Amino acid sequence: MSDRNYDVIIIGSGAGGGTLARHLAPTGKSILLLERGDWLKREPENWSVEEVFVKNRYVSSDTWRDKNGKPFQPGVHYFVGGATKMYGAALYRLRKEDFGELKHHDGISPAWPVSYEEMEPYYTKAEHLYQVHGARGEGPTEPPASEAYSFPAVSHEPRIQKPSDDLARSGYHPFHAPCGIILNEKAIPFSTCVRCMDCDGFPCVVHAKSDAEVIAVRPALEYPNVTLLTNAHAIKLNTNPTGTAVSEVAVNRSGQVETFRASIVVVSCGAANSAKLLLMSANDKYPKGLANGSDQVGRNYMYHNSQAVLAISREPNPTRYQKTLGLNDFYFGTAGFEFPMGNIQMVGKSQGPMYKGEKPLEAGLAPTWTLDRLALHAVDFWLSTEDLPKPDNRVTVDGQGN
Ligand SMILES: Cc1cc2nc3c(=O)[nH]c(=O)nc-3n(C[C@H](O)[C@H](O)[C@H](O)COP(=O)(O)OP(=O)(O)OC[C@H]3O[C@@H](n4cnc5c(N)ncnc54)[C@H](O)[C@@H]3O)c2cc1C
Repeated sequence: MSDRNYDVIIIGSGAGGGTLARHLAPTGKSILLLERGDWLKREPENWSVEEVFVKNRYVSSDTWRDKNGKPFQPGVHYFVGGATKMYGAALYRLRKEDFGELKHHDGISPAWPVSYEEMEPYYTKAEHLYQVHGARGEGPTEPPASEAYSFPAVSHEPRIQKPSDDLARSGYHPFHAPCGIILNEKAIPFSTCVRCMDCDGFPCVVHAKSDAEVIAVRPALEYPNVTLLTNAHAIKLNTNPTGTAVSEVAVNRSGQVETFRASIVVVSCGAANSAKLLLMSANDKYPKGLANGSDQVGRNYMYHNSQAVLAISREPNPTRYQKTLGLNDFYFGTAGFEFPMGNIQMVGKSQGPMYKGEKPLEAGLAPTWTLDRLALHAVDFWLSTEDLPKPDNRVTVDGQGN
C-alpha cells in the first residue's frame, strides 16, 4: 500500500461506514475511512439542552433547498460516527412482514429485494456489536431471532412501569424497547452509562451510548491497517478508463483536492449525501451520475414519519432514562383500521427549554405552568409510521454541487 492506494476506501464513518470499517479491520486489508467532519468534541455542552436543542450546536451549517427553492438547514451531523452521535439508540429490527409488500392507507409499500431471513444473521451480529439491551418474546409483532440479546432489557423507572402495567392490564402487549446503551444495572458504580436525561438527541460526553464512533470507529483504529482521515470531504468518484468500476476518490481537504485509489470503494455518506456524491460524479460516459442507469439514484427518499406526543399528567414524571417502553399492538392495524399504523415508543425525557416557542397557555394550561413544570409532568411518546417511497421525493444537485 502506498500513501494513496488502499484495498478498500469507505466514505463516511457513521452507522454504515463505521460499522463496516470495524467489521473489515481484522481482515488485514488496507482500509481508508474518509470522514468530512471532525471528532465530536467532548465538552460540557454535549449535555446542554440549550446548546444542543435550541442553538443546534452539533447540526451542520449546510444550506439545502426544497423543491420550491426555499433554503433550509438540514438535520445532518458531520462527525466521526455520523448521525449516531446524536441518535436515540433505539435499535429495533424491522418486522418480517416489512420485507414483503404491505398495503398502507396512502398506498403500497413495495417488497424488498431481500427477505427478513436473509437479513436476520446481520441483525443478530449488529445487536451484539452495538450492545443492544432487550428481551425477546414480549412484543406481538416480533420477528424470529436466532439468538438472545447479549444484554438484559433496561428496567423501567417507576413512572414508566406504571403505563406499562396499565397497558398490559388493558390487554395490550407493552415490551422492553431495545436500547443501545453501555449500561450495567447490576453494578452501577462500574457502569459507563449513568441513566441520564441527555441521551436521545444529545452526544454522550461519557461515551456511554452505543454510537458508531464508540462501538465501531475507535476499535477499528486499533488495527494498524485502518486509517481515518477527518475533515476529508469526498467530492467526486472517478471510474477506471473503461468505466466498469469506481477506482478513485477525489477528496477536498482544507481546500486542497487529493486523490485516493482502491479496488473497492464504499459510499456510506447517509441517504441524501450518498445520492449527492453519486450524482456529482457524472462524467462523459455516465452523464446522469454513477450507478444511475435506472434514473433512481436520489429518488424514493424516505424519512422518519414521526411525531412526538406528550401526555401531560397530574402526577410528575421524574424519569431520567425514559426510552425503555415500546408498543407495537397497532403496528399492522387494528379492528376498524386495516392499515399499518406503526410503532409507539418513548422519546428521551423532554426538558423545559426544548419547548421554546410552544405556548402552554394556549394548550389550556394555567399560567402557573412554566415550561419546566410542563416538562416535569410530561410523559413523552414517539409515534412512527412508514414513509412510502415516492419517485418524486428526491435529492438533486445543481451545477455548483449543492
Ligand atoms: C436525532 C436523531 C435520532 C435518531 N434516533 C435513532 C434511533 O433511536 N434509532 C435508529 O435506529 N436510528 C436513529 N436515527 C437515525 C440513524 O442515526 C441513521 O439512520 C444512521 O445514522 C444512518 O447511518 P448512515 O451510515 O447511513 O449515515 P450517518 O450515520 O449520517 O453517517 C454518514 C457519515 O458520512 C459523512 N459524510 C457525508 N458526506 C460525506 C462526504 N461527501 N465525504 C466524506 N464523508 C461524508 C457524514 O459526516 C457522516 O459521518 C436518529 C437520527 C437522528 C439525527
